[in-house]
Amino acid sequence: MKTFEDLIQDVQEPGLCHRCGGCVTFCTAINYGALELSEEGVPQFADREKCIECGMCYSICPEIDEFQEETKKLIGWEPPMGRVLETSVARAKNPDIRDRATDGGAVTALLLHLFDRGHIDGAIVTRQTGPFQREPWMATTRQEILEAAGFFIDSSHGMDHFGKGYSTFSPSVSEFRSLMQKGLRRVAMVGTPCQIKAVRKIEAMSIVPSDSIRYCLGLFCSGNFIFDDEAKNKLAAAGKFKWEDVYKINIKDQFIVILNTGETKTIPLDQLDFMKRYACRYCPDYASEYADISFGGIGAQEGWTTVIARTPEGRAIYHDAQGKTLEIYDFKPRPDYPAQIQTKVRDASNRKKRYSEKMHDELVKSRAESSS
Ligand SMILES: Cc1cc2nc3c(=O)[nH]c(=O)nc-3n(C[C@H](O)[C@H](O)[C@H](O)COP(=O)(O)OP(=O)(O)OC[C@H]3O[C@@H](n4cnc5c(N)ncnc54)[C@H](O)[C@@H]3O)c2cc1C
Ligand code: SF4
Ligand code: SF4
Ligand code: SF4
Repeated sequence: MKTFEDLIQDVQEPGLCHRCGGCVTFCTAINYGALELSEEGVPQFADREKCIECGMCYSICPEIDEFQEETKKLIGWEPPMGRVLETSVARAKNPDIRDRATDGGAVTALLLHLFDRGHIDGAIVTRQTGPFQREPWMATTRQEILEAAGFFIDSSHGMDHFGKGYSTFSPSVSEFRSLMQKGLRRVAMVGTPCQIKAVRKIEAMSIVPSDSIRYCLGLFCSGNFIFDDEAKNKLAAAGKFKWEDVYKINIKDQFIVILNTGETKTIPLDQLDFMKRYACRYCPDYASEYADISFGGIGAQEGWTTVIARTPEGRAIYHDAQGKTLEIYDFKPRPDYPAQIQTKVRDASNRKKRYSEKMHDELVKSRAESSS
């Protein structure tokens, strides 16, 4: 039976842990305090003696091959970038949501639709907790869902905290504990591809409370970035802006900085590689291939969200929200637009897979060299 010791050796030590928090959240002995997340979000033993060596943390980790085929089968995964039932572009009908949102506010508008219609009792999202921090959050009211919209840097409180290592990552899977404590039975989960994959793996293993996750809304993801002082300064120099002037950041096919004046600065993503979280370099999933619906900014016009419906359930809720909380882009003048967007997403997805393969090859090579 492989245990947390093996997880440290096989996933953490090579730098493959993307800190989804799954192992800690689902540790059989979590109530006894066997595992915990460190302040930096790294899973670690809180008390080694309390581990009952059940192997759950190892099996559940998305970086471990166990249950991969079952997970793919569960979702009807297809190459090259997961199942695609429909590609579309949408935005929130409500301009207040659009103002707060990252792109078109389609994620928030769909969550509100599900909530208003009584299809969900809550949603696992992330909320802003300080000028430069987000944390996972179980939103159980309309207002809470609304407040979670967007991907902001709010510079109005000063820049003091920013240099301390702000990361765009937020370990949403850990909110499963809140779901269990509150006994919620119908929840939507918003997350990056690695988080959605962790949830699907838990589903494939039939672990409670995965049956309470009714809808997985995935975000496209080029990577998560760590903003320490050095990174902050390099970025400001590359983009020719001052952090004090930043209103909002976004990631599409470039890193986008929107200033308080409305001016936009862009930096190619390959120039941000130095501040990308190490584990993200090994990640092959760009387009949230295991979600019910995936959302991103790439391909869509400014102020709109690209939407890929992947499962019949995802497509059904997307269509149900149309005309209610969601406005759909008018494709009549541009009937080939969805196919063009799909090509853009597929190209970005292929690039990420190729890079991840290269990194894995190098890792295997360096492990072989160090053991010989
Ligand atoms: C780290 C990261 C990298 C991304 N990279 C790309 C990319 O390369 N290309 C691309 O096209 N799109 C990318 N996206 C997705 C894009 O930024 C938007 O989230 C997406 O287009 C939906 O926009 P929206 O206006 O419809 O969402 P909104 O209505 O604004 O809702 C956004 C939802 O995402 C949640 N959220 C915000 N930050 C996080 C986080 N760190 N972890 C989990 N949930 C979060 C919020 O709580 C909210 O529920 C990325 C997102 C993240 C978080
Ligand atoms: S009790 Fe089980 S799940 Fe928890 S750390 Fe030990 S082996 Fe992992
Ligand atoms: S990837 Fe997730 S489940 Fe695997 S070791 Fe890291 S935090 Fe734990
Ligand atoms: S690139 Fe995105 S999906 Fe992949 S491990 Fe990093 S945060 Fe997760």
